[in-house]
Order: sequence, then structure tokens, then C-alpha cells
Amino acid sequence: MHELGITQNLLKLALQYAEPAGATKITGLYLVIGELSSVMDDSVQFYWDFVSRDTLAAGATLHFERVRATFECQECQTVFGRNEHYICPACGSRRVRIASGEEFYLKSIEVEE
Ligand SMILES: [Zn+2]
Repeated sequence: MHELGITQNLLKLALQYAEPAGATKITGLYLVIGELSSVMDDSVQFYWDFVSRDTLAAGATLHFERVRATFECQECQTVFGRNEHYICPACGSRRVRIASGEEFYLKSIEVEE
């Protein structure tokens, strides 16, 4: 399951930030998750409790910030939200690319010193 690996990486990253900073406890992780990302926040939450056990981050709260999907027209560079057929609302082109909504990353962590 790829959420398990993702969650392990999140923990590793959070510890990399927290340990040199002299933190005694990580209390929260702020994650950015795109609407089109294949990552399921429920699964990350589920694995989190398991992988963070017996670490500085045990019991830390996961905060998910959602990013809406946007698309950019390759013909006229109009950026628009998701529509039914992924067609540019300005020029009708179907040559569109995803501009946002696929991201998944750790934005910040909250620690106690
Ligand atoms: Zn267009």
C-alpha cells in the first residue's frame, strides 16, 4: 500500500526537522493535499498512529489542507477550475494541463521544546 510508505516518509521528514531543533515532542503536522492526488487522507491517518508510535511524533495531530484542482489551457493560458469535459472555457481547446491539485507535501510541523 503506497500510503504506508508515504506515511513513513512523512514521519522521517518530521523527525529530521524536529530533532536538530531540540524538540521534545511533535504535536502537529500540516499537510497539503491536492484534490487530484491519489493519496487518501484517511489511510495516512490510519497508518500515522501506527508508524509514529514510540517516536517524538507519537500522538501528533495531522492537519490536511486541501488544494483545489485547476487546469491551464495550452492554447490561451487561461487557468480554470474543474469542469465536466476538461475543455478551456475561454477558447474551447481540449489541450489542457493540470496546474494544481496533484500535490502532496509536508508544509510545516508544530513542536514542543
Ligand atoms: Zn484556451
